[in-house]
Amino acid sequence: MNERMREFLTRLLDARGPSGAEAVPARVWRDEAATFADEVWLDVHGNSFAASGPEDAPRIMVAGHIDEIGLMVHHIDDEGYLYVQPIGGWDPQVLVGQRLAILTDHGDVPGVIGRKAIHLIDREEREKAVKLKDLWIDIGARDGDEARSRVSVGDVAVLHGDTMELANDRFAARSIDDRIGALVVLEALRRAAEKGLAVRAVSVATTQEEIGYRSGGGAATGTYGVDPAAAVAVDVTHATDHPSVDRKEFGDVKMGGGPVLTRGAVVNPVLYGLLKEAAGRAGVQLQVHAAPSATGTDADSMYTSRSGVAAAVVSIPNRYMHSPSQMVAASDVEAAAELIATFLAGLTGEESFLPE
Ligand SMILES: [Zn+2]
Repeated sequence: MNERMREFLTRLLDARGPSGAEAVPARVWRDEAATFADEVWLDVHGNSFAASGPEDAPRIMVAGHIDEIGLMVHHIDDEGYLYVQPIGGWDPQVLVGQRLAILTDHGDVPGVIGRKAIHLIDREEREKAVKLKDLWIDIGARDGDEARSRVSVGDVAVLHGDTMELANDRFAARSIDDRIGALVVLEALRRAAEKGLAVRAVSVATTQEEIGYRSGGGAATGTYGVDPAAAVAVDVTHATDHPSVDRKEFGDVKMGGGPVLTRGAVVNPVLYGLLKEAAGRAGVQLQVHAAPSATGTDADSMYTSRSGVAAAVVSIPNRYMHSPSQMVAASDVEAAAELIATFLAGLTGEESFLPE
């Protein structure tokens, strides 16, 4: 990964933006897009768009969601402790003892997630999984009035978990799902524009996927607005190459094994074929994931947009999803960007996506 991409990756991953409050990372994404794209814009749901290629040609959309999971303050008690609801799917075991930043109108407020110490938990309770309602946030306030002067109900929070580089060009960060997809679609647009485009390629950083990919989220309105002939969702998928995961149940996906193409009802077979062909031309090794019904990505709302949109899913293998230490390999990120750029630059604009 070159220095420019690495610098952008860190800037984008470390920006704080849980679902519904994505303005900061979205601005980072648009600032980067403005350095090369023909056109950059924002819609009322916070989706960010960047387009290149002939304006009157068919539009092909590639999208990664820019939101991340987080927490929302919903009660502050008289002792000054904060209680939260989840934004997206948390395993509460992951939350115990974490440090976080509460994003308020007057700046970030640091806090820690409290639980009584092991010594104070009786034997029976130790066997049980902790629930979110048993946890609280401690910002160091002396009482409720002080806490309420610093934090308000409805403020959102994200855990600490800034980008950390590991051996073999692997890195960990709390926002990899799916800031990394938003990065890939922008890098793919840059590379496709350099290769030459016969279609209007539109990269989108969608919002609210973690809370609404099925019923909408930003992808629903974003896809309606772009009105594309085809749309590719770029997201993360579970790498299953670590201990205690059953491949008979979850399939065989390796981190560093290349991007993953999804097969299933949501995925248009013509589009799938074009992506596979592009991988061959780009020399990109692919892995395949089976999704007989929903994909659990933005593609689930893209493919039912208007009278139907040809959709596909390209995923980056990700270990420890929905934790502050999600991990991906730089080689998979690069390969996904190159695969999508090769796909976009290879389109003539004459393609039919009818499944004949
Ligand atoms: Zn997710």
